[in-house]
Amino acid sequence: MMKKNKVVIGTRGSLLAVAQSKHVRSMLQEIYPEIEFEIKEIVTTGDVDLRTNWNNSDTSLKSLFTKEIEKELLDGTIHLAVHSMKDMPAESPAGLICGSIPEREDYRDVVVSKSNLKLSELPEGSVVGTSSLRRTMAVKEMRPDLVIEPIRGNIHTRLRKLKEENFDAIVLAAAGLKRVGLENEITQYLETHEMMPAPAQGALCIQCKEDDLFIREILSSITEKEVEEVVEIEREFSRIFDGGCHTPMGCSAEIIGDEICLKGMYCHEEVVYKGEVTGKREEGKSLAQKLAGIIRGRLMNKGKVYIVGAGPGDLELLSLKAKRCVEEADCIVYDRLINKRILKFAKPDAELIYLGKLNTEGGVIQDEINKTLVREALKGKVVTRLKGGDPFVFGRGGEEIQEILKDEIPFEVVPGITSSISVPAYSGIPVTHRGISRSFHVFTGHTMEDGGWHNFDAIAKLKGTLVFLMGVKNLDLITGDLIKNGKDPETPVGIIEKGSTSKQRVIRGTLSTIVEIAKKEDVKPPAIIIIGGVVNLRDEFNWFEKKELFGKKILVTRDEKQAEAMSSVIEKKGGEAVELPLIQIEDQMKDYDYSEIKKYSCLLFNSQNAVRSFFRYLPDMRLLGDIKIGVVGVKTKEELSKVKLVPDFMPEEYIGELLAKEACDCTKEEDKILFVTSDISPNNPEEWSAKYKRNFEKLAAYKTVKIKKDKSEVEETLKGVDIVTFLSSSTVEAFVESLDGNLDGIKGVKFASIGPVTSETMKKLGLSVDIEAKIFTAEGVLKSIEEAM
Ligand code: SAH
Repeated sequence: MMKKNKVVIGTRGSLLAVAQSKHVRSMLQEIYPEIEFEIKEIVTTGDVDLRTNWNNSDTSLKSLFTKEIEKELLDGTIHLAVHSMKDMPAESPAGLICGSIPEREDYRDVVVSKSNLKLSELPEGSVVGTSSLRRTMAVKEMRPDLVIEPIRGNIHTRLRKLKEENFDAIVLAAAGLKRVGLENEITQYLETHEMMPAPAQGALCIQCKEDDLFIREILSSITEKEVEEVVEIEREFSRIFDGGCHTPMGCSAEIIGDEICLKGMYCHEEVVYKGEVTGKREEGKSLAQKLAGIIRGRLMNKGKVYIVGAGPGDLELLSLKAKRCVEEADCIVYDRLINKRILKFAKPDAELIYLGKLNTEGGVIQDEINKTLVREALKGKVVTRLKGGDPFVFGRGGEEIQEILKDEIPFEVVPGITSSISVPAYSGIPVTHRGISRSFHVFTGHTMEDGGWHNFDAIAKLKGTLVFLMGVKNLDLITGDLIKNGKDPETPVGIIEKGSTSKQRVIRGTLSTIVEIAKKEDVKPPAIIIIGGVVNLRDEFNWFEKKELFGKKILVTRDEKQAEAMSSVIEKKGGEAVELPLIQIEDQMKDYDYSEIKKYSCLLFNSQNAVRSFFRYLPDMRLLGDIKIGVVGVKTKEELSKVKLVPDFMPEEYIGELLAKEACDCTKEEDKILFVTSDISPNNPEEWSAKYKRNFEKLAAYKTVKIKKDKSEVEETLKGVDIVTFLSSSTVEAFVESLDGNLDGIKGVKFASIGPVTSETMKKLGLSVDIEAKIFTAEGVLKSIEEAM
């Protein structure tokens, strides 16, 4: 290593550059008093061009200020060079390195104004000088009315222009002013949330030759590790966004304990995209990549939040628009009041996030909801926030919007049918009625955090219908205060629990009696309190509770595709459907050689699934020629009619073997007959061959795969369920297997079976057969449930 007695520091000739170099010199001099440090000013192309009229957006501009200096470093005429870090291109030329990043000056931008007024205080239309797009965007964001004019030159030139020309204020970097001793000119410091600084603003880069080990050693004495760390991250962010000085972007990294918080902004087509990430210090540059990813995601993908009202509980009270938002969503955030069946409309890969617990009003959860919406949308996702009723009726939808607005995430609001009117409607209570009530008023039954309460003096005077949400806990307060303030104690009151669901319950009384009655009936939220003469109309108008399956929560265990049809019948009849698919139907016909079909003179189908699977892959209907077709079961016949085929025969009873028997009428001895069924069909067609003198063959067109669910999931789903339906033996088996054979926890639930075979399996596995269908279809099961009630 070659020691030097004299070290030459190269710098641009500007006052700022010289001041920076002097600063570095004094730091080094203090540590190495024996060395002589000399400063050599070098004129760069950038400095020359500055006096001419450069005005372009060429990102290679940066090298204009470093080229000549770097040449002298390589030639050895200077030993180190001091640059503003933000002027440094991402890559140093071969042979040169950044030998040190010393302590950093203030990274903020500042306002210098003529009349010492802050940005917010400047009169409308004031002229602000800056040539940086980054600063322009930030000023416009704060004060859209200000006029931005370009201003060029070094610090002193700009300050002079501010005084002499038509500028009211200019924006500069704090670091420059402080370094040349003009700190007292500063009117206002701009924090990062107001104006994101340029990457590495205020930091210096001391360049030297890679192989000059002596210089590298003395430079290491003034290196600040923490500054190096944040500058590396900021420069990475800049590199990703190709940050020439004309790219509107900025960032600022800050070390907080063992974490780093990186804030950044990027501007594209006049839109400012901001973001923030926090991570462990050792993540280093990858934090910049993370943040860039977030910002890019938003820029390209435009995440969005739909704040959607899902109605009071009945699935069909969901609006078409709400349904579309669920279908579109990449991520769905929902809470406890919504009907879970809505989630079936979601894309298979949509992420479903339940944030509700029992306490939807708790601040902690709200905070988590807000954060989740922002986080997911910033990934560029379409986020659908599903809320019970209407999002703005005590739904805190507004608070969620305020939160997502902070990140400028686009959003839409989809109103929902609020429980405040629909729940009364489902109990036969109109909130207004000619001659009885000319208005209705909706209140929260919660007291405010500070104990504040409604003005009951005014409320008691209202003639219209009073509706209280979330009022169960304070029922005594509400009724007591109304009576105290002069409301007639005989005014009718209704409390509707779990309105529009199968568990809807209505409790009635008067202002003076309802507290006692509610206590006796053990009323539980969610419930609505409705007060006024309209409550009595329920005597005539009650409709929902009279529906065939009202009050029944029915578990559908069929495979997912077929469950829907059954669930909607249940709902149409006023029941509530819950789905727990315990089997899955898998087609097996994809690779079947359909040209085989012509060998057979008759096809037999024994289930809907058999028909569906067989025809799904049939390439050409004419392959069937005049083959005879037999089916068993009405549903099988219906399925066949979907492909415009009418069976030649259909046995009276739902018994597979009858198909074989009847097939004899339209076939000859020794004809080949194909029995299309499932892999686990109990029928064995080969056995029929001898008896009926035909050649029967079996084709397993689909597989029935049992789905074993988690025990806890089954138990959770069973909560509140009145009747479990089984449409096949395999669902019974899957049910019992999912519960690990332990049936103790399912007391109070009734079991319904589609027919004798399924019933047999149920009994064998220890389940009671409370209801058995007379017609062996899903509708037949529901019909028998109705009759049993
Ligand atoms: N945004 C919702 C209300 C949220 S506040 C809306 O517009 O309906 C929650 C309160 O709404 C519950 O405490 C209860 O008072 C009422 N509520 C919501 N759904 C209900 C239902 N199905 N039956 C009875 N009350 C209900």
